[in-house]
Amino acid sequence: MNLTELKAWEIADGLRNKDFSCEDITKEYFKNIKATDDEINAYISTMEDEATKKAKEVDQKFVNREELSEIAGVPISIKDNISVKNVGMTCGSKMLENYVSPYDATLISKIKNSDGIILGKVNLDEFAMGQSTRTSYFGVTKNPLDLTRVSGGSSGGSAASVASREAAISIGTDTGGSVRQPSSFCGVVGVKPTYGSISRFGVTSMANTFDQAGVVARDVRDAITMLNIIEGRDEKDATSVGNSCLKSEFNFKGDLEENLKGVKFAIPSAFLDMDIDPIVKGEFEKAIEVLKSNGAIVESYKIDSLKYLIETYNILVNGEISSNMSRFDSVRFGHRTQREFSNIEEMYKMSRGEGFGNEVKRRIMIGTHILSLDYAKDYYEKAQKVRGLIIKEMNDLYNSFDIMLCPTAPCLSLKIDSEMSLTEMYQSDLYTIPANMIGAPSISLPMPIGENGLSVGIEFTANRFKDKDLLNAALGFERSLQK
Ligand code: GLN
Repeated sequence: MNLTELKAWEIADGLRNKDFSCEDITKEYFKNIKATDDEINAYISTMEDEATKKAKEVDQKFVNREELSEIAGVPISIKDNISVKNVGMTCGSKMLENYVSPYDATLISKIKNSDGIILGKVNLDEFAMGQSTRTSYFGVTKNPLDLTRVSGGSSGGSAASVASREAAISIGTDTGGSVRQPSSFCGVVGVKPTYGSISRFGVTSMANTFDQAGVVARDVRDAITMLNIIEGRDEKDATSVGNSCLKSEFNFKGDLEENLKGVKFAIPSAFLDMDIDPIVKGEFEKAIEVLKSNGAIVESYKIDSLKYLIETYNILVNGEISSNMSRFDSVRFGHRTQREFSNIEEMYKMSRGEGFGNEVKRRIMIGTHILSLDYAKDYYEKAQKVRGLIIKEMNDLYNSFDIMLCPTAPCLSLKIDSEMSLTEMYQSDLYTIPANMIGAPSISLPMPIGENGLSVGIEFTANRFKDKDLLNAALGFERSLQK
């Protein structure tokens, strides 16, 4: 048996049945990482010693017949913008190349307390800004399905590590689609829950009102199991509220297709007007057929405000980014220039100029501009109003429908050397952004891999705190595809 082929819940079963030990599993994963990762480049750093030590502890706990969590002994990778105590955290940037986290993020404490095995930290676009991992200082993460293509982003390392069996589950972050889009490109499941479900304490902020951690997994059941562990209100993050529906009982057996009966799906008509890759379109049409044949209702729905989605997102997100990035001042931590400087102003400029890549600089400049005294009213405040309008119109949609339906991305995974314009790149986030704009839960579910060997993700987005309905429908859809 190849242990890295097992899903997390199969690992949990196997450990309980004593089919193998946690140390066996951990060894097998590191063997695979060593054989695979020079090519894929999913990991920025690995934690073999800590992971092996933890694995031995977990094996002992099994011997002692302690009551253990569902993720006990499961090998996990962590996006490198989440703090793990005494381990480097680069955020994919030269700015933090040598930074070591002094504490655990709350979600990491929860994983450690539940005996998950953290294997290492995985690649991302610099400070999570991008959709390909091409903006990472540590180079692109290749797509395990096709090594000439990107893994997507920004949590490309998370998706690639799960797809290449270099981790059983991964934790990513999602500000505008960063968990779901790479999952779609790499043929795995990616989910972000309702905003506030998981504490952001120890998760590097990109745009605080949009950011939420999420899970990349091999199937919906694994994702649900992990969400259940890391969910929860945390007094260290004032915006965290917890989400008890992630603690609900889910049925993983039986006629899961039944979950789709009578569920109402809405496809925003604006989404179909844009340029969609014909392969993506074909798979999306197949998905609609699958849903309908299992008793779901699928209709199109008009939301005018979605026309302004990309512009609104970029104004608000860049505003928040420019303010968040100001903490990297090279005084307390971060890259410090080696060149001569004569005053602190010069030191800031040189250090930040050297430490940040182009995408980060671009967003800082745009964000600073739109938040400046002369322009805040015209841009930032107006965008806030449009966000309100989008929330209102999406609420109207959810008065008549349960789930918004679309492909996760309008395109297939890009070729690593392809030249896509910035506007095309930003446009390609259209389907994932609504969930972050309104704080809703959203999941990308892979269609079976086609003849071209590439993956297309189908995205379900439900209203805030309807995570349970979302995940139940996802279980139903996943099961229907297996038939
Ligand atoms: N691709 C989007 C962006 O670049 C989303 C990034 C994210 O979710 N972190 O803004």
